[in-house]
Amino acid sequence: SRAQAMEVTESPDVEYADIGGIDEQIREVREAVEDPLENPEQFEAVGVEPPSGVLLHGPPGTGKTMLAKAVANESDATFIKMAGSELVRKFIGEGSRLVRDLFELAAEREPAVIFIDEIDAVASKRTDSKTSGDAEVQRTMMQLLSEMDGFDERGEIRIIAATNRFDMLDEAILRPGRFDRLIEVPEPDVEGRERILEIHSQEMNVADDVDVSEIAADLEGYSGADIASIATEAGMFAIRDDRTEVVQEDFERAREKLQDVEGTDEQVIH
Ligand code: ATP
Repeated sequence: SRAQAMEVTESPDVEYADIGGIDEQIREVREAVEDPLENPEQFEAVGVEPPSGVLLHGPPGTGKTMLAKAVANESDATFIKMAGSELVRKFIGEGSRLVRDLFELAAEREPAVIFIDEIDAVASKRTDSKTSGDAEVQRTMMQLLSEMDGFDERGEIRIIAATNRFDMLDEAILRPGRFDRLIEVPEPDVEGRERILEIHSQEMNVADDVDVSEIAADLEGYSGADIASIATEAGMFAIRDDRTEVVQEDFERAREKLQDVEGTDEQVIH
């Protein structure tokens, strides 16, 4: 089960060019992760420590995981992903053990990028150490912090965490030497949405009269993940009508369909 908890990829198939609307965040991640991995001697020469850990925070489906994968890929580093929820274990010591395994694996495979998704699962300030389950979660978090304190910042392991619940995080993990580089990944603005639509429809046979900027303007409040499913669903509508070209109306119908699904099942409000 320990092996299953981690996802290891030598070169994830995501590039910066696949990520739309968050150019500034890409720049910041490159500076904090890629530069130290590729030019550790420059940091040494200048005499500065790169940030210890990077925390990506923002709403679901905005590209945080993509960003972590892309920076690993573009720095030729092994990508090792662990979900925070996987670190929450029933048995005493099991979570801490997983954390140790995670850093051990990274050391074997360096250069490596460790990505911990849903970090709030183990680092929420609401955890109350008086109950035994929470005390165990607390220990897992302490183990994570001590692993971070223990590795040489100029070495070839970088750590990125992500959360949708920034407000719930225990401040202890944000102190200097820990997750001390915060990068907010917001919902895309209209230009970002247009770019994301272009990215997700570039392989599709889209009719000449499709107005991407008009569609993007109608998608206020939609995330990158929403837009990716709208593009796919638009293609499905074309297939159902036995067409080989995707037309403007397909995108509109796809948006309505997604709205219905989310309105009823997930109660996402757009
Ligand atoms: P969560 O917080 O729910 O884990 P996330 O922010 O990590 O979400 P991703 O897993 O990176 O989001 O995105 C999910 C999918 O949505 C991606 O695989 C991609 O298809 C699409 N997507 C999200 N954001 C973007 C973006 N900025 N540009 C292009 N595609 C995007």
